[in-house]
Amino acid sequence: MNSPQVLVGAVEAGGTKFVCAVGTGPDDVRAQERFDTTLPVETIAKCLAFLQRFDGLAAVGIAAFGPLDLQPASATYGCITSTPKTGWQNTSLAGAFSRALGLPVGIDTDVNGAALGEWRWGAAQDLDNFLYLTIGTGIGGGAFVNGRVVHGLLHPEMGHIRVPHDLVADPFAGSCPFHGDCLEGLATGVAMEKRWGQKAETLPVGHPAWELEAHYLALALANYVCVLSPQRIIMGGGVMSQPQLLPLVRRKLVSLLGGYVQAAEILEHTDRYVVAPALGSRAGVLGALALAQAVL
Ligand code: ADP
Ligand code: ZN
Repeated sequence: MNSPQVLVGAVEAGGTKFVCAVGTGPDDVRAQERFDTTLPVETIAKCLAFLQRFDGLAAVGIAAFGPLDLQPASATYGCITSTPKTGWQNTSLAGAFSRALGLPVGIDTDVNGAALGEWRWGAAQDLDNFLYLTIGTGIGGGAFVNGRVVHGLLHPEMGHIRVPHDLVADPFAGSCPFHGDCLEGLATGVAMEKRWGQKAETLPVGHPAWELEAHYLALALANYVCVLSPQRIIMGGGVMSQPQLLPLVRRKLVSLLGGYVQAAEILEHTDRYVVAPALGSRAGVLGALALAQAVL
């Protein structure tokens, strides 16, 4: 995947905003613009108009919210499928961009894209096994295993795993429209806001919300560690921008693993094992850039 650093277009397609960019890598982003996510026709048209301003693009990468159809043989490859986001069900993304621009399009989930970006330029360089997680409006994860992004049947849905939910300690029923109290139902920014009656960003540092949040995230991490044995876990997204959260998650992860997984990386260097994205808030758009270069 050491594709040349050619000039490509990037589209980070999020439920709140689309960020488009043109460049060759993190140090050479030549233009960038953001558009609110409204209806598909309108939002995609704005992205296309932006990308059409640039000559000589070799490909376009799209890192998108999902779920996505990523089966190459499928008639609806590159489409958003069953999203709860109004108007976006069954929206063609890859097809719309490749038809309008006449360029190859690399598409993947936002978290798989961000994982690829962190692998090329960020916190996972030289690692063959790692996870990129986002904790924001939703929870999603991208996994690298043996040097490749895991796709599997569709793509992993790491946000929708079940974690123990003590209804006495936490009577909140959960906010996932599909599962109620799956991880996403218990631990997104949206779940926090519903449980505590105020936006996550307004909950003070010492509020019990953060211990509980770290507890659910650490339970999820313990499961991912046991199933995938990652060499590092990168945690991004709006909720993780709370500086007190990462140290709490690390401590609870080590405690939950109970000394069974014997790795100095986890037990002694936990601060290098569970980390923030090195690309920061650019992980998404740079991931899309990496997806474009990977398709070449
Ligand atoms: P998205 O998931 O939509 O791409 P974000 O990753 O920014 O966007 O996640 C938005 C969610 O994160 C919201 O639920 C918001 O309340 C929460 N959030 C954003 N900033 C913070 C913050 N500084 N502290 C805690 N929660 C935050
Ligand atoms: Zn769910």
